[in-house]
Amino acid sequence: MLKLKQYEAWFITGSQHLYGEETLKQVKAHSKKIAAVLSQSRQIPVKVKFKALLATPDEIVQFMRQANNSDKCIGLIAWMHTFSPAKMWINGLKILNKPMLHFHTQFNRDIPWSEIDMDFMNLNQSAHGGREFGFINSRMGVNRKVVVGHWQDEEPIAQIGIWTRVAAAWKDMQGMKVARFGDNMREVAVTEGNKVSAQIQFGYSVNGYGLGGLAKKVKAVSDKAIDQLVQSYHEEYELAKSLRKDGKKHNALREAARIEIGLRTFLEEGDFTAFTDTFENLHGLPQLPGLAVQRLMADGYGFGAEGDWKTAALVRSMKVMGAGLPGGNSFMEDYTYHFYPTRMRVLGAHMLEICPSIAAGKPSCEIHPLGIGGKADPVRLVFDSPAGPGLNASVVDMGNRFRLLVNTVDAVEPEERLPRLPVARVLWDAHPNLKTAAAAWILAGGAHHTCYSQSLTAEYLEDFAEIAGIEYVLIDKDTKLRQFKNELRWNEMYYRS
Ligand code: MN
Repeated sequence: MLKLKQYEAWFITGSQHLYGEETLKQVKAHSKKIAAVLSQSRQIPVKVKFKALLATPDEIVQFMRQANNSDKCIGLIAWMHTFSPAKMWINGLKILNKPMLHFHTQFNRDIPWSEIDMDFMNLNQSAHGGREFGFINSRMGVNRKVVVGHWQDEEPIAQIGIWTRVAAAWKDMQGMKVARFGDNMREVAVTEGNKVSAQIQFGYSVNGYGLGGLAKKVKAVSDKAIDQLVQSYHEEYELAKSLRKDGKKHNALREAARIEIGLRTFLEEGDFTAFTDTFENLHGLPQLPGLAVQRLMADGYGFGAEGDWKTAALVRSMKVMGAGLPGGNSFMEDYTYHFYPTRMRVLGAHMLEICPSIAAGKPSCEIHPLGIGGKADPVRLVFDSPAGPGLNASVVDMGNRFRLLVNTVDAVEPEERLPRLPVARVLWDAHPNLKTAAAAWILAGGAHHTCYSQSLTAEYLEDFAEIAGIEYVLIDKDTKLRQFKNELRWNEMYYRS
């Protein structure tokens, strides 16, 4: 369900008719070449298509209309090979509703010292043409990513690749449907928020569904379908003895399979790509969905526990951004601290619902009692997550705006085995250190729920915030608390103006 090749980034080049037709021909040929290189790059997962050389106000408006209406176009990559007087762009930029990346590149990498003449100078003018374009975008408050560098250099290509993944996630988010089974966990604040504001800002809709509708789908699952799914559980996981075919609790595994199929059917029929549930409202379901949620997340669905629809939508989007990259993305919760003086760590986990896309090795499938919810013991996948770079991201509703908060981390190997802990977990070292990271996170009002990512860097989330037009706050190796507090204060002013 996560296919990025279906999407197109449209490459456009700005120019003007001042230089004559011969120059424009060359501009076009160069543009085609650059777009082809970007399209073929393994770092860019979408198609990059050269679409237009734009040299008049009318052409620009016409083109923007076309881009806005195209279902395949996830955004524009704009290049100013020559000078393109930017008043020509005003009416087009006024109506553009797709993300934009300004690629500030030049066709020639090097100055041809012994041959350079005024013809060369007039063709390779992006150094000043890009500034004219930058001015009008800044003057009009157009959010965009600016990438600088030669088009054959891997670094800018990687930056463009990141942006295309984010633009694809943004496209996926427009019209995304988030299903909520049950409301919010009672009295919890941070998982609440304004769903109308979210739909206006992010483009996704969040609606509630009675448990009865889901229970009906779960009940209707055939024994044959359950047999087949249970068989694949046997193949994919280390099954606990009691859950195996002749085990005492094999029926609980069958119930888990029934829930998975029923839930999947409900989501597929309703065209949902993200969902929430809550242990306080499970009427008609025998156990809290654990294994089912874990497996649906692994297939690309977004999920948030306790009714957390903001995290559910974020998890889905981050899965789209990370499609095909090594490492996974999962719903996560900061659970418990290790305050050992020289090695302070966070143990991240949830009651059940951690995505096996972040697992190290083959997960073990187990059944254990759950202290809350008053339902039958839920089946779940238990695993550790490997060491390596990662991050946690959280969207919170600040009342007048949404804030995206990111903390980079290094996942580390657990210091010892955790034989009595019946849930999937990750141990991490937060940047710059736990004391600063947790204080900053708390001052920024970040939630306990996050999306934990192994595959994405902070640059993805920054691009996402830019496209969505929301506040972005990063806690990383450079974070100093005093400066961070001021950043929050200044942002407060910005968003109140
Ligand atoms: Mn939770």
